[in-house]
Formats: sequence, C-alpha cells, structure tokens
Amino acid sequence: MLGQMQNQPLLISSLITHAERHHGSTEIVSRRVEGDIHRSTWGQIARRSRQVANALDGLQLAHGERVATLAWNGYRHLELYFGVSGTGRVLHTLNPRLHPEQLAWIVNHADDRALCFDMSFLPLVQAVHSKCPGVRHWVALCDADKLPTESGIPGLMSYETWIGGRSETYVWPELDENSASSMCYTSGTTGNPKAALYSHRSTLLHAYGAALPDALGCSARDSILPVVPMFHVNAWGLPYSAAAVGCKLVFPGPALDGKSVYELIESEKVSMAAGVPTVWQMLLGHMQQNGLKFSTLRRTVIGGSACPPTMINAFNHTYGVEVLHAWGMTEMSPLGTVCTLKSAQLALSPEAQLKVRLKQGRAVFGVDMKIVDEAGHELPWDGKAYGDLLVRGPWIITSYFKGEGGDPLRYDANGKGWFPTGDVATIDADGFMQITDRSKDVIKSGGEWISSIDVENIAMAHPAVAMAACIGMKHPKWDERPIVVVVKKPGAEVSRDELLAFYEGKTAKWQIPDDVVFVDAIPLGATGKMQKMTLRQQLKDYVLPGA
Ligand code: ADP
Repeated sequence: MLGQMQNQPLLISSLITHAERHHGSTEIVSRRVEGDIHRSTWGQIARRSRQVANALDGLQLAHGERVATLAWNGYRHLELYFGVSGTGRVLHTLNPRLHPEQLAWIVNHADDRALCFDMSFLPLVQAVHSKCPGVRHWVALCDADKLPTESGIPGLMSYETWIGGRSETYVWPELDENSASSMCYTSGTTGNPKAALYSHRSTLLHAYGAALPDALGCSARDSILPVVPMFHVNAWGLPYSAAAVGCKLVFPGPALDGKSVYELIESEKVSMAAGVPTVWQMLLGHMQQNGLKFSTLRRTVIGGSACPPTMINAFNHTYGVEVLHAWGMTEMSPLGTVCTLKSAQLALSPEAQLKVRLKQGRAVFGVDMKIVDEAGHELPWDGKAYGDLLVRGPWIITSYFKGEGGDPLRYDANGKGWFPTGDVATIDADGFMQITDRSKDVIKSGGEWISSIDVENIAMAHPAVAMAACIGMKHPKWDERPIVVVVKKPGAEVSRDELLAFYEGKTAKWQIPDDVVFVDAIPLGATGKMQKMTLRQQLKDYVLPGA
C-alpha cells in the first residue's frame, strides 16, 4: 500500500520561491568587487534569478548544459545559483585560484557553454578564453558602464545588460528531482581533477540536514557570513540552507583579510560565520593586534582542514564564540560530520570539552560512516582503533562526472556501496569521529602510524608558530620519520631545539618529530589547504639528521 502524501519533487527552485514568499524583505548584503557594500533582499534575488532564467532561455541553452561561474561570494553569484539550476541547467562553479592551464582543462572537460565572471578575473578569462572553444557566451558580472571596450573576448556581455529588461516572471519547470543541478571539481592533488555532479534532490536533502540544530543550526534569526567560497562545494551548501530558513546572508566578496572580515561581522551583526582555518587565523591575528571583541558573533563553522586547538580555545575562551568543527568533502556536498556536544559532555571540564571539540564530530542525519581495516572489516567505535573512513548517504556521490576513475565505491557483504573518503579516522563510543590523517599523509614509523595532524597541532600551540606542516621523511631503520616544517609569526623567534623541547610531555617520545625545518611559506592549494606533495618536492634534497 502506498502512502497518500503529495509527491513533490525536491527542487532548488522551491528554495528561492519559499525564501521570496516567506522572507522576501530579509537582507542579502555583499561587499562587491568594486569595493562598495551592496544591499539586496531575498525578494530581489528571486526576481533577478527569474530574469537570469529568461536570459538563459534567450541563449537557447538546452537542459543539462553547463553554465560556469568564476566569481566571489556575492548577490549576482547567488542569483545564478538559483537562476541556472532552477531552469534545469547545471551551475558549474570554477575555482579562480587554479592555474590557467588547469582552469581551461576543467572548462573543456565540463563542456561549459557559458561563463559568467567577476571583473577581477578578467585577466584570467583573457588568458584562457581562446583555449575554451566550447564556451559560446561570456558574461561579465558588472554594470554595462564597467564593461571594457577592448576586452578581446568575443561577444562579451555585461550581466546587467544581459538580464536587464527581461521579464521577472518565469514558471520554474517541474524537473525530475534526480536531474543534475550543479557541479564542482575536486582540487585533483593527484591526476586530473574529477567532478562531483550534484542533483536537485541531493542539494535539498543536504540543505535540510545542514540546517539542523546539531549541524550548522541555521535559523531565520541568523545573519550568516559564508567566508568559504561559493566556488568551493557551494559554500558548504549555505546559500541553499539560508534560503530554506530565510536568514540574512552577508557576502565578503574578494576581501578575505582579517580587517575586512571583522568589519563586516560587526557592521552586519553576523551571528554565524563559516570558513577554513587559514581565514580565521587572519581574522584572529587582526583582532589580537588591535584588541578587538565581537559583539554579535556566536558560532563559527571551521572545516576543510583540521582546526588547531589554539584556534578553538581562542574563539571559545577569548571571544565567547562557539566553534563548530566540521568535516566533509567535495564528493559529499560537502557536510559529513559536525562537532556539537551532547548533554553529558557539556558537564565536562573545559579541558575535557576541548578534547571532544577537537574531533570532527558526529554524523549529520543522512550520512552513515564506518572505519575499516585493510581487509575491509569494520573496526570498533572505541576512539582508539583507526582505519579507512567510508561513508554513504543521499548527498554522497556514486561516481564522478563522465565516469572518470571508474566505480569509486566499495561494496559490503549486503551489496551496499560505500564511498572511501581517503581519510584515516577513529570513532568513539558516542559516535564522534576524529580524522588522524589523509591516508596519503600518514607517517609510518617502525610499523606504527603517526598522525601528522597531532604533530602539527602541538607546534601550532607554540606562541612563535604561525603555520606548521608535518611530513614523513625516508629513514633507513624506521622506514619514515616525521619532521615539522614551520613558518614563524612575524617578529617571533623560536629555535629548532626549543620547539622540539616543546613537544616533551605532550606526546609519546617516538612521535616527536626528528627535526624542524623553518621556511618563509608553506605552499597552499586552491582551497587554502597545505600542499604536502609540493612541500615534499621542495624538500627533496633534505636529509634527516643521523639518517
Ligand atoms: P580537495 O582538498 O581535494 O578539494 P575537499 O575540499 O573536498 O577536497 O577536501 C576534503 C578533505 O579535506 C577531506 O577528505 C579531509 O582530508 C580534509 N578535511 C576536511 N575537513 C576537515 C577537518 N575538519 N579536519 C581535517 N581534515 C579535514
């Protein structure tokens, strides 16, 4: 017997329709590439996203064709999120931090038909456009009078001219909820990048899951600042969850430095902000230097890389801001786990609570996870056993775009497919998962594993250390031994021996790195993560002391 409930497809267009109808006057504030602050509302975003829809129909792009963006977080990008996906085309968010060659490769691989870009990326577009013959339409996200006369890009249109004068009426199509809505390429640290192709259904379910109180806890009373870029896994799905709950959104545009982010948080009464640790480091640095406090910020979601304990402590204790340590992947839309404490843990001492907060957290409903050994056998949830982390759920990929890389899933005895995350983790009895490493970064010393994250966290707790990366170096006896590569804070001093002495008593002796290498900078990838492969190449002539 079937249930007798309305069967409505889960569509991205329903999010913007809801936000307009129920939260039409709630503000969307953006710092623009031009430098000024622009104010819009969910109502205006909805009307303009329908103009985008009409404009796309005018270009005669078929359903399923890809429309790319090369843009910062801002209102026009948000209009494209809803306008492109709502019509049944696929929004392809490009990462502007990629090398032009790689960018052109991705545009061609995705077979993008149109590309909309912020004016700050004009030089990048000028460098790649002739290498992207499949792109027929180039749109600059600016007013008509900001369009350069001699751009060298054939048929370049200004966004405002393109959508201006179009009807604000549009009937969103009743698509199959499983049809593709957007796509994002992983950074491809090994081999060519591969794309996750999201669907309307996966996006809507993720929007519900992410908004839950024990996940990101989004509500209509929030003012949310996604510092995490809209070109990286849809800003962790925040634009969709925000439309579902009708909160205010605040977009930082290109200004991600501590001063600009702080000013926006204060002036727009931001209650929740989300970003990677490197961004928060800039913000905290600025605040410490200038003796500043937050007046409205209550929560900050930190993910993308492990959040060091010093950062959690600074937010919690110095600034009264709760850190939600979160973990996810491009292949997971991206949310997998969020670290929100259970009632029993709230009664723990601050030190014991910090130990829990350091973990990447509990699975959001919709995501199942397990850890397995090399033979694929499930390992116990005791907080000690560590193994490959596998996940499954309706917002996790089954395969990559164009079947690239074959079937990525691993099948259990019941034939259920699990996605291997490439992370190594423990899970404790309360279901809190902790990443020990990416499997390719784990250091194997004398048959034992050393977590590079643990080694880095201790170095980061030293007041003179700005950034630390732990990598394994070949060792004749132990196979590999860890070294820590360190960037010092400006004006601060620490010697090799002082830093190694700092490890004493904080970790097992054999887990203390063999050496410290001081560098001016650690290479960061397009999504702000430390590039250990590049670092290893840079240190290829390095020899361990005594090796
Ligand atoms: P890429 O870096 O290839 O673009 P993603 O941005 O999807 O890929 O990154 C996913 C990976 O980032 C995870 O598999 C994990 O290794 C790492 N990661 C994400 N969040 C955290 C976190 N909170 N702690 C530690 N590692 C994290």
